[in-house]
Amino acid sequence: LVSREVKSEDTVINIGGVLVGGTNLVVMAGPCAVESREQLLESAKIVKEAGAQFLRGGAYKPRTSPYSFQGLEEKGLEMLAEAREVTGLKIVTEVVDIQSVSVVSAYADVLQIGARNMQNFQLLKAVGKSGMPVLLKRGMAATINEWLHAAEYILSEGNFNVMFCERGIRTFEDYTRNTLDLSAAAALKDLSHLPVIVDPSHGTGVWKLVKPMAKAAVAGGADGLMIEVHPNPAEALSDGSQSLTPVNFQALMNEVGSIAAAV
Ligand code: PEP
Ligand code: MN
Repeated sequence: LVSREVKSEDTVINIGGVLVGGTNLVVMAGPCAVESREQLLESAKIVKEAGAQFLRGGAYKPRTSPYSFQGLEEKGLEMLAEAREVTGLKIVTEVVDIQSVSVVSAYADVLQIGARNMQNFQLLKAVGKSGMPVLLKRGMAATINEWLHAAEYILSEGNFNVMFCERGIRTFEDYTRNTLDLSAAAALKDLSHLPVIVDPSHGTGVWKLVKPMAKAAVAGGADGLMIEVHPNPAEALSDGSQSLTPVNFQALMNEVGSIAAAV
């Protein structure tokens, strides 16, 4: 179902009036994690003013260490819904398990499946049944073929509102956090009719590399970007080193905009 052989024209997903796919370029931006009401509303204002359509922010955080900040859970979801109320931005936030699909669906516009859950097949079936738009991140060791099959799990439940998100893979290189695989984004555009979003924040782990990789992604035909932005990255509870300041995010939006106009 995900293949271009089955459907040749690009799928365009309508998320509360925002179109993803086709000739549209969308930007999903915001902090790694919802940390407080003030931090989230400030972030929402920044990304809205710079021209993003979606606010991202995790309320349930899949952290490497159990001692790291785990997220505000439903309180965080309430803050995301308030930020939508104030700004009109659509909300994309991660769902980490089957039990929380319904509560996250009650607040969010898009359910994010994180890299660590790309092959959690029961969760894929559950978000498929939910009918909600899904952002399917690439597993950090997943091949393109495995990623396509993960999407197939969602579509096979009757839910065609799926976007892929390239967020980098594990390689021998350890200067960057992951190796952003822009060739996979281009391959998916060829193999599938579904929209492809690129996340250069997790893809590099280094804020200085986010803007050049965002520009490369858009020049290469990506349908959208996911960018981590924090009002004060030095104080972020997670992923501060890859988060853009408001000024740097505005610069990214300006430069990406002129590339998008030329593609
Ligand atoms: C995130 O978007 O903050 C996140 C945890 O991403 P990933 O699943 O790609 O690591
Ligand atoms: Mn993050």
